[in-house]
Amino acid sequence: MVQADYDEVGEYLDPVEAVEMAIDLVEKWSEDLGEPVYVSYAVQEGVPPELEELSNGVIVKMKNWANQIYMDMEKCARCGDLINSKDYYLIPELGSDKKYCSATCAERDYEEYLEINEEDTQE
Ligand SMILES: [Zn+2]
Repeated sequence: MVQADYDEVGEYLDPVEAVEMAIDLVEKWSEDLGEPVYVSYAVQEGVPPELEELSNGVIVKMKNWANQIYMDMEKCARCGDLINSKDYYLIPELGSDKKYCSATCAERDYEEYLEINEEDTQE
């Protein structure tokens, strides 16, 4: 069994990109080896992988699985990009738990918030 590792595949925040990349790689292996290739996918390490032979049906299943994870992932309150669960920005002044993908997005929302508050006090 050959296992793809991060060095070869890279690390992806976006599960849809990760699955597409993995499928490309596995298809190349399949061509090189001239043998069936088995794939497995799981979010957590330590979950025993259930290997399935790569087929169009399995590719569809993998893509649906990735899309489902993507939908459940947290997105930036400003731009809608995916948020890295270990590396995101908050604006405590807003008193909300909105999360941002970057300092730029957080600053833009904060500036908007300040502008709105300024308008409120002028009225
Ligand atoms: Zn953002």
